[in-house]
Amino acid sequence: MQAQENQQARKSDARDFVLSVEGLTVSFDGFKAVNDLSFYVEEEEIRVIIGPNGAGKTTVLDLICGKTRSTEGSIKFRGKEITKQKEHQIVHGGIGRKFQNPSIYEDLTVYENLEISFPRGRNVFGALFFKRDDEVDAAVRETAETIFLDDQLDSVAGLLSHGQKQWLEIGMLLIQKPELLMLDEPVAGMSVAERKKTAELLNRITKGRAVIVIEHDMQFVEDIAHRVTVMHQGKVLSEGSMERVKNDEKVIEVYLGH
Ligand code: ADP
Ligand code: MG
Repeated sequence: MQAQENQQARKSDARDFVLSVEGLTVSFDGFKAVNDLSFYVEEEEIRVIIGPNGAGKTTVLDLICGKTRSTEGSIKFRGKEITKQKEHQIVHGGIGRKFQNPSIYEDLTVYENLEISFPRGRNVFGALFFKRDDEVDAAVRETAETIFLDDQLDSVAGLLSHGQKQWLEIGMLLIQKPELLMLDEPVAGMSVAERKKTAELLNRITKGRAVIVIEHDMQFVEDIAHRVTVMHQGKVLSEGSMERVKNDEKVIEVYLGH
């Protein structure tokens, strides 16, 4: 009876979280890059994952988006098991992921980059073509405004600054309306001003959406994080508010020892 109740509780918990990661492990030739990792991301939360190089942060995103297969454990998106799904199914289900290096179409304009990222296959039944064009155009312009590029729509993407390219790539994900957006070191190589604007951008987009960000820049982390998960050797070392993890002896030790 007790066990049954516990199971019920766990199930309803899983539904309340956007993402539930439990006991996640991946072994590369015996080396556990991610080792029995559990964490839970709430609705409209910005979660930042920090930790020294090699802690397993990028591998966690690879596992969630289906790029890498786990050895053990479970990943649930809105209570639904996605651990064994293929990458395209996971994307289609509403998880968007940005890699460390921007992958935009350098020869196309900002407008075109956003336009081709608009999800296909919607409104295929009955929608008039001009209606779809209007819908795409509106989405492109709205997204461009969110990513501070509304006055650059006709600029060739290859000529944008490094920071603008990063924003464009975020826009290319946003236009697909992911319910979970994952960003790997989005402000690396950005100026201080660009970092501030990126924080503003992320704080703008959490309506109906959770965001996971991997980042090193502590000022940026403070500006965006609702909660912070500190990883070390594939495990969770500490978790909570920035204030809490910053003052955690275990965290201080790992960072000073580096
Ligand atoms: P982080 O992003 O925290 O710096 P990573 O997740 O990139 O760390 O890497 C964690 C560890 O796993 C590193 O030691 C890395 O070399 C190893 N690793 C990552 N991907 C693979 C892979 N596909 N094959 C073997 N080892 C890997
Ligand atoms: Mg990494």
